[in-house]
Amino acid sequence: MQSMQYMSTRGQTPAMGFQDAVITGLAPDGGLLIPESIPDVRNQLDHWATLSYQEITFEILRLFVDLPDDDLQTLIRDSYASFAHPEIAPAVPVGDIEILELFHGPTLAFKDIALQFLGNFFEYILEHRDQRLNILAATSGDTGSAAIYGVRGKERINIFVMHPKGRVAPLQERQMTTVLDDNVFNLAVEGTFDDCQGIMKGLFRDLPFKEKYGLGAVNSVNWARVLAQIVYYFSSGLYVLNTRQVSEVQFAVPTGNFGDILAGYYAAKMGLPVRRLILATNENDILSRCFSKGEYSLGDVVPTISPSMDIQVASNFERYLYYKANGDTARVRQMIHDFESSGRLEIPREADGGVDPLFAAGVGDTESTLATIRRYYEQHNYLLDPHTAVGVAVGEPYHCAEAPLIALATAHPAKFNQAILDAVGKDIARHPYLEAVRDAPTRQDEVANDIDAVRQYVIDHVPPVG
Ligand SMILES: *Cc1c(COP(=O)(O)O)cnc(C)c1O
Repeated sequence: MQSMQYMSTRGQTPAMGFQDAVITGLAPDGGLLIPESIPDVRNQLDHWATLSYQEITFEILRLFVDLPDDDLQTLIRDSYASFAHPEIAPAVPVGDIEILELFHGPTLAFKDIALQFLGNFFEYILEHRDQRLNILAATSGDTGSAAIYGVRGKERINIFVMHPKGRVAPLQERQMTTVLDDNVFNLAVEGTFDDCQGIMKGLFRDLPFKEKYGLGAVNSVNWARVLAQIVYYFSSGLYVLNTRQVSEVQFAVPTGNFGDILAGYYAAKMGLPVRRLILATNENDILSRCFSKGEYSLGDVVPTISPSMDIQVASNFERYLYYKANGDTARVRQMIHDFESSGRLEIPREADGGVDPLFAAGVGDTESTLATIRRYYEQHNYLLDPHTAVGVAVGEPYHCAEAPLIALATAHPAKFNQAILDAVGKDIARHPYLEAVRDAPTRQDEVANDIDAVRQYVIDHVPPVG
């Protein structure tokens, strides 16, 4: 059997296998890599319902990767060894709904589920190819620490994470800078997050430097990240289908880059019986407007209490557009071109004129987010982090006995203890991991807001890879 091949949403990159797709990240033609077909797993669901999280992961991943089963099993075991909960991602009944806790990884955010994997995949591939990699990343908070924990201590990988100096929430900054492994470099850039991102993009465009130093990215468009996230839709969905004896489930997903909910879309396309994917945004509502009105149009980014969703351009959205365009890559190129030139694009419609019957969408603004946190605390003695609360606020009205709601909990509340204090009037969100970083030693270097300074920093700290 030939293993799954990957192609670009823009149709101008030759097909490649999984390992090349992981190392490549973004396709050379600017598109995103997608599997050439989506496996139909409906006749395996009864069996999968009896399996552990790791076993379901194996069954799903083997459909998409090009590595031997034994190696894949080892990678899966290693990637989840760092999780504090035996079920990895437990679904917990709270009131009428289920909360899918995705925050039991080392940095207490759902990004760990994908980034623990990606780090191990990178290491595996680099070992087999006898190569090295220098990861360059820019972060405003969450992603940086999850990426660092994904690759800390790995021999063939160094990671350079830029954050805007003094502009990251103190605890989140400490989650990054308390990691003292030799291969981890935290750069406090004297500028904004956009400056950091600008420097990163500039260095990736410097092709001679990129080649010589083997620069790579861990951003949310990497297919391995989406793939790892498909698993928890199945594990929680099958669990709820069985325990509640229903034939459909619904998911509420707090959304920024459209990465997490895209994994849910793949799960539904593979045959998980999903009635609705409920897309929830904060006031940065480009995606919820899109699914209500069919137009994807740029707005301004405003800061909110769910900062990991303060995003306008959703980097994973192009994969969805590809499916909406029925795989017509010329049409995808046209839509992206329209968006880049005018800041808006029209989504291809369904026959009935609707955008997509699988999706519902809405906005959880600051007021309803805080009210939801308070209500869950008072009625259920359960603390929702503000991102999770956005999803719960938007998703709750869709819950029904025939199609129960599973709300994805994307961060532990202690990561956002200020929002908890604002919501319930008490500073009660705590987690031992975060207590431990409060006074642990840190290491970071200040760097000027200047691409040449960051390039020189890399040159001064690691050898070329070639
Ligand atoms: C990244 C993140 C999100 C948004 O996930 P996307 O894949 O970007 O949609 C939501 N909540 C938290 C806590 C996050 O870190």
